[in-house]
Amino acid sequence: MSLSTGFPSYVEQNFKPSSSLTESMISEDFIRADSMFGAVVVGIGTAGGVRIRDLLAPLPGSPAERITVKGFISRRSLDLQQGVAKISLEEAVSREDIQVAFICTENASHEDSIRTFLQAGKHVCVEYPMTMNYKAAVELYSLAQEKGLILHEEHIELLTEEYNQLKREVKGKTLMEGTLHFTGGPLKPGFGFLAFSGIARLTWLVDLFGELSVTAATMEEDSGNSYSKLTAKLLTSDNRHLTWIEERGPGLPRAKNISFQFDSCTLTQIPPAPRGTVGLFMQDLIHFSAKLIGEVSPEENQREKIRILHCLEVAGKIQSLCQK
Ligand code: NAD
Repeated sequence: MSLSTGFPSYVEQNFKPSSSLTESMISEDFIRADSMFGAVVVGIGTAGGVRIRDLLAPLPGSPAERITVKGFISRRSLDLQQGVAKISLEEAVSREDIQVAFICTENASHEDSIRTFLQAGKHVCVEYPMTMNYKAAVELYSLAQEKGLILHEEHIELLTEEYNQLKREVKGKTLMEGTLHFTGGPLKPGFGFLAFSGIARLTWLVDLFGELSVTAATMEEDSGNSYSKLTAKLLTSDNRHLTWIEERGPGLPRAKNISFQFDSCTLTQIPPAPRGTVGLFMQDLIHFSAKLIGEVSPEENQREKIRILHCLEVAGKIQSLCQK
């Protein structure tokens, strides 16, 4: 089956229904109740709101149609959200018609929430970062495997058109050295150490240049002014130096500045690219749903897991160097 034109390359590359599925079969008749997954959304902030929106209007013909939202969990007393009702954690873990949890809370509570839902036999989709420590992520992946469940970490930063364009430009070039400098406003409480809250930038570097080691890391902080700056010195497996700077403070624009020096040229700008037609969280939802129905190969799942654990391990090393 070929998807309609205009889809981001991610969707085309990763949504590969089995050969027995034809366009006409992906219809309301095909999506029977017994092949549906009920879901709960935990945490109603920016990400949680987008998750509910996408679950209510999945991309037609995509595996995301297999998930229906049954409720949300919030610490606040909230009325219906986009027509969806609040339920308790106890209800969510015990209901048989809920098989999936979307964890959209602050980073600090991801680990406990994932463990609770996996132990209750539910598949989990968690917004990045999965945890704020490498060992916990290893343990949670083992728990998911033991229980035969999907544990998926969202990485929308890898799905943007601008990132795909950057990746195409970097492909085939030999890196000499480089810098990625992110700036943004102060972090809200509960989002954790900068190497974890900024894991999206680290993930870019690992996805572009392969596994990295940490040679040095420093942290500047002025908590009175909500200012923080992390500088990490990284090394590729070819011994090329990369510097990752994560800087946050009032008035700082949300921006990523790059300077990648290659043997043939220097890239100092992220190439502009038109916005894709399918939203980033929707692309991630399709990818997660494809995992639920076994449409993502074990090799791809394993590659993702290795990358995620590597990034969390590097973030942990950066944190311990900063704390020394
Ligand atoms: P946010 O502050 O807007 O939302 C977090 C929400 O979770 C808040 O409403 C908070 O009250 C709620 N919450 C916290 N603990 C809870 C608990 N135990 N039970 C129920 N609700 C709880 O933050 P956000 O921007 O939506 O980010 C959420 C997660 O999504 C973070 O892990 C973030 O890294 C990730 N993420 C966000 C974006 C984005 O564009 N906003 C992109 C990628 C990843």
